[in-house]
Amino acid sequence: MLLKKANVGALLDAIAANERVFVPADDRGTSRFVAYEEGVAPRFDLINTKLPPKDLLFPATETLYRWSRDGADLSIDSAFSESDPFCVFGLRPCDMASVDRLDAVFLTKGYVDEFYQAKREAATFVVATCAHPGRECFCDSIATSPHEAPAADVLLEDAGDAWVVTPQTEKGTAAVAAWAPYLEEGDAEPVKATCALKVDMATVPEKLKGMFDDPIWSDIGDQCLTCGTCTFVCPTCYCFNIDQDVREDEGKRFRCWDSCMFTDYTAMAGGHNPRASKESRVRQRFMHKLSYFNDRYDMNLCVGCGRCMRDCPAAVDISLIIDRIAASEPAQEKEAMAHA
Ligand code: SF4
Ligand code: SF4
Repeated sequence: MLLKKANVGALLDAIAANERVFVPADDRGTSRFVAYEEGVAPRFDLINTKLPPKDLLFPATETLYRWSRDGADLSIDSAFSESDPFCVFGLRPCDMASVDRLDAVFLTKGYVDEFYQAKREAATFVVATCAHPGRECFCDSIATSPHEAPAADVLLEDAGDAWVVTPQTEKGTAAVAAWAPYLEEGDAEPVKATCALKVDMATVPEKLKGMFDDPIWSDIGDQCLTCGTCTFVCPTCYCFNIDQDVREDEGKRFRCWDSCMFTDYTAMAGGHNPRASKESRVRQRFMHKLSYFNDRYDMNLCVGCGRCMRDCPAAVDISLIIDRIAASEPAQEKEAMAHA
């Protein structure tokens, strides 16, 4: 089945008549996934949006419950609600791979986050493959491929002026059946692009286990401004804070994105901070992405989207850091050389 790119507007209008549909688009000086409506021009030409689609499942700020007090009576109301079905149309394979990582965190290991789960179950993901990966893209040596997305409900493979449409799940099959008036029979050869930038992750998770005190962390710490940009643009970063907003006799508790790059992220009552230095915070970021997460979930917590490299004001480049780790001597060899 083919979806001619000239027909995508009509298809989006039809989907939007039944459910919310989010598309990549420019928005107030940046680009992100926004609800498709009159006046929104989808940007399927972007390599990927500046802000990732993770906020559709894990909002930047999300109220957990509200409370109010009337004398001695205290009432607490959960803010949880089921989510109406919605469609995310045109995300890239790297961003779909990031949903696998968020699923692992919020839905496995004996813990289910009901706020995340409600949105995840309501979502239909339609992935558009990349015909022209960017120069900072390295998904195919760390997580996925520019032309594949196994977890997508529907895969749209770029074939020039059309996409080849393949449903990959039950939800996707139902969606594509409803798209029939906008699809055409036919064959087209999809582009099978690969990334020019590669990393070699083969030894990295294990090598990192012996690099806790390596000078690499002070080198990156000297370079990093600890602005947190890399964590907020990253589709896989999921750290959050829980805080409250109190107004006299009522208030709410909410969670909001936080960053391991911030000094107070690990500040404890009493004043101790186990990661007070920049060096310790950048170490945590890269250890978590490239080693600790692998131990717990058997996958890297980086999908090679390139956003942190594009947007870091200090030019911290995760691909160069991976290269340096991959080229380093294993800890026991370093120790043996030191004693030789
Ligand atoms: S974006 Fe760059 S400077 Fe800012 S915290 Fe991340 S690595 Fe450091
Ligand atoms: S660490 Fe950087 S390249 Fe990797 S997924 Fe996050 S933003 Fe993308």
